[in-house]
Amino acid sequence: MKRKPGGKDWISEQLCVPMGRTCNLYCRYCQSPPRGEPAAPLKKVLAEVVRRRIKAVSLEGGGEPTAGNDFFDWVAALKKAGVRHFMLSTNGVALSDPEFCRKAVKEIAYFTVNLPGADEKTYAHATRSVKFAKAMKGLENLKALGTGDRIRLFHIIYRGNYRRLPAFADWTAGTLPDLAFVNFTFVRNAGRVADSAELVPRYSEVEPYLKLALGRLKLAGIRAVVQNFPLCRLKNFEGFSFEFHRWRRGDRVLEAGVAGKAVCAACSRCRLEPACCGARADYLRIHGRAELSPSALDPAAIKPEPFQ
Ligand code: SF4
Ligand code: SF4
Repeated sequence: MKRKPGGKDWISEQLCVPMGRTCNLYCRYCQSPPRGEPAAPLKKVLAEVVRRRIKAVSLEGGGEPTAGNDFFDWVAALKKAGVRHFMLSTNGVALSDPEFCRKAVKEIAYFTVNLPGADEKTYAHATRSVKFAKAMKGLENLKALGTGDRIRLFHIIYRGNYRRLPAFADWTAGTLPDLAFVNFTFVRNAGRVADSAELVPRYSEVEPYLKLALGRLKLAGIRAVVQNFPLCRLKNFEGFSFEFHRWRRGDRVLEAGVAGKAVCAACSRCRLEPACCGARADYLRIHGRAELSPSALDPAAIKPEPFQ
């Protein structure tokens, strides 16, 4: 565990609590679809919290943590077990209820809001729902309660939204100028994606739109990071890479639970390899490895973009 000077150390010490078991959306690309039960029952989670003296948790899926009717029961039980800091990963729909939002703001330090589109058409395609207005209302409620700087936007890039990345950046800059940061994560070929080239675009297709979006956010003074996207497809924008930031901090480049890198001839000749997410086997199954090209760039020479 690395400590950041003067930073919120609890963020890197937190335990992921996959409490979600159902969802109020039906996203096409859902990588961890709900299964009707939490991945670990509350009793087991509480025992681990007590045994490891956990002080910070991130409430997550498979599924949407707020979609059950016992969200605040879990929060109360975790607090009783010693948890002091909560992060919530949510699609934001439940936050459209002002009372729910008000209660959540009292308990949750950071809200990671999964928003696949900032326009109704893109959102409806991604989520197969008509809940765009509710998602927007959830963000409005958070803002109205003065928590704009406690919002992190999580935007999964898939074939249905990558051309809208620059527009998404503009919308973010105009609507949530105080937010903590934007995380662009390239879709993983897992869960409902099921090897579909209809859902997984090529890196090279996404690259120009992604770079434009990153540039626009930077000009607007908004922090951004890109996850699960190889450094060789981020030329001149490598400092936005999430995995590069982890490498700089001395953390394992891939987060716990993320599948290891695939063996790839280009990567084996690449100087960026230690700081890169590398070739992803789930991606190679669909599009192959022709887009990956080894680099002679020393990762230590990359200038990091501000992140957290
Ligand atoms: S991606 Fe998240 S919001 Fe969408 S269906 Fe899966 S759990 Fe629900
Ligand atoms: S060649 Fe492989 S290691 Fe090098 S930047 Fe591309 S994906 Fe990363």
